[in-house]
Amino acid sequence: MSFTVAIIGRPNVGKSTLFNRLVGKRLALVDDTPGVTRDRREGDARIGSLKFKVIDTAGLEEAFDDSLEGRMRRQTEMALEEADVALMLFDARAGITPLDSHFANWLRKSDVPVILVANKCEGKQAESELFPAYKLGLGDPLPLSAEHGDGMGELFDALLPYE
Ligand code: GDP
Ligand code: MG
Repeated sequence: MSFTVAIIGRPNVGKSTLFNRLVGKRLALVDDTPGVTRDRREGDARIGSLKFKVIDTAGLEEAFDDSLEGRMRRQTEMALEEADVALMLFDARAGITPLDSHFANWLRKSDVPVILVANKCEGKQAESELFPAYKLGLGDPLPLSAEHGDGMGELFDALLPYE
């Protein structure tokens, strides 16, 4: 049995980087500039023996205008409809932003279980620096580095129950 994981979060937190690491092919565009990934990407992901379908919620990073929030919300809801579990990424280096709180609010209202992921946690990122993430109300943040691959074993453990 396979299951589906949606990667959710505001622009630039590293969703496409994680998608690429999980899928192992460079299917999703990654760029420093928000606005580069326009299409939603799906791929066959694996971490060790664990196989699943992964959705990179993209198309969220277009020009920042007053409809952005609505578009992000629709994209997120569409991905959640298909997902068995969502990974809500935030940028641990940037800390919690108002947009992160928006996403967390939407996710808390959905029925889909959420794993909160603190991305960009490579190197000496102290776990105490993750305390502000608890105010998102999504439980313990899982420290990860999508770019460097740190924390993939913990992500495996967190996803295993959904297999
Ligand atoms: P998205 O907009 O959420 O899809 O974010 P991207 O995957 O496009 O990444 C945005 C930026 O963050 C890029 O410059 C990535 O190289 C960078 N990034 C992604 N993951 C990590 C990470 O684990 N550590 C660091 N330091 N940078 C990362
Ligand atoms: Mg992206």
